[in-house]
Amino acid sequence: MTDWQQRSANRMMRTFGAPMAMLVRGQGARVWDDAGNEYLDFLAGIAVNALGHAHPVFVDALTRQASTIAHVSNYFASPPQLELAERLARLSGAGEEGRVFFSNSGAEANEAAFKLARLHGGASRPRIIALTDAFHGRTLGSLALTGKAAMRAPFEPMPGGVEHIDSTIEALEAAMGDDVAAVFLEPIKGEAGVLPLPEGYLAAAREITSRHGALLIIDEIQTGAGRTGEWFAFQHAGIAPDAITVAKGIGGGVPIGALITFGAASELFGPGHHGSTFGGNPLMTATANAVLGEIERAGLVRNAAERGAELRAAIASIGSPHIVGIRGQGLLLGVALSEPRAGGLTAAAMAQGLIVNAANPSTIRLAPPLTIDSADITEFTARFGRALATLDTPTESDAS
Ligand SMILES: *Cc1c(COP(=O)(O)O)cnc(C)c1O
Repeated sequence: MTDWQQRSANRMMRTFGAPMAMLVRGQGARVWDDAGNEYLDFLAGIAVNALGHAHPVFVDALTRQASTIAHVSNYFASPPQLELAERLARLSGAGEEGRVFFSNSGAEANEAAFKLARLHGGASRPRIIALTDAFHGRTLGSLALTGKAAMRAPFEPMPGGVEHIDSTIEALEAAMGDDVAAVFLEPIKGEAGVLPLPEGYLAAAREITSRHGALLIIDEIQTGAGRTGEWFAFQHAGIAPDAITVAKGIGGGVPIGALITFGAASELFGPGHHGSTFGGNPLMTATANAVLGEIERAGLVRNAAERGAELRAAIASIGSPHIVGIRGQGLLLGVALSEPRAGGLTAAAMAQGLIVNAANPSTIRLAPPLTIDSADITEFTARFGRALATLDTPTESDAS
């Protein structure tokens, strides 16, 4: 073990696996480790670094706001906070009635959404429906919504009322009733391995929840900020939800999340119902404004759609027998492997100077910065192709 590996093993809480490298610097779609090795970053901090690393717009907004006013309590407003709320309402199509609550993370945005569902449900709608395999976060409320029994089990009992169902329209139809407060959905299940919902699911979910008077709440934490080739993934379906949650790419690297409500759901929260000390502070909101402004200015939502299609074609062109499919949309892709060897392939990719992620044992997740160009895709394809070739000889690390 190197010194940093030993220090990490000694002192960091054991909530994560052993770190794959010690990263010290980033520029655009590239990062460098402490030994000076360069990596092409096709994970981008798990769909966070929308503009890549050390983008001048990000750096300028963050440093300028830090030297102006970084934090005020929520007893006060600030210009960047209001500007970001207005921008998110506009980009999401939340409309005239739309409202925004700022949090510091995705899980906290979902906590706020969980409370929104309770306020809507009251005593007569105690049930909340979520999907098996969906990921909504690690705090107790967001964990209760998360559709992985093994993640929840050590922390039972969960906040009550949440049921998990299969991701079919029939299962939703069968589970619904007038006692349901809300349905939570992830439009593409990122953590589970970039699993899209069935064709027509979002439109059907909108129709079914409206018919039963339940809220439709869409978790856009991984899919939002332009990643799928629309500002938010639900927009591909042409529907309007009652609320969405966002985080990750919205801040491009600063911790920020938000609950955005549409229509009548905007009237549910009242004074004293919820809060956050840091949520919506000028430092985070000024940075998020700059990040979203740059995504708009540089046409990066369209770039996500176009480079996504190009990346898909490039992966297919490798012609590797280990690849059996490519899922996802825009620049959130899941490469399906013929065998459960994603752990070994991720390590092999690191050795070739490429960061990818094993979202599940047989899926490689790709979520590069939205700023990538065709040259980055060419470089990715060369490095990924070399990593795939190492799978021709099985190794022990494939067992992971
Ligand atoms: C990452 C993620 C979360 C949790 O966000 P944190 O910022 O880690 O709390 C929730 N939902 C989805 C879909 C995510 O991808």
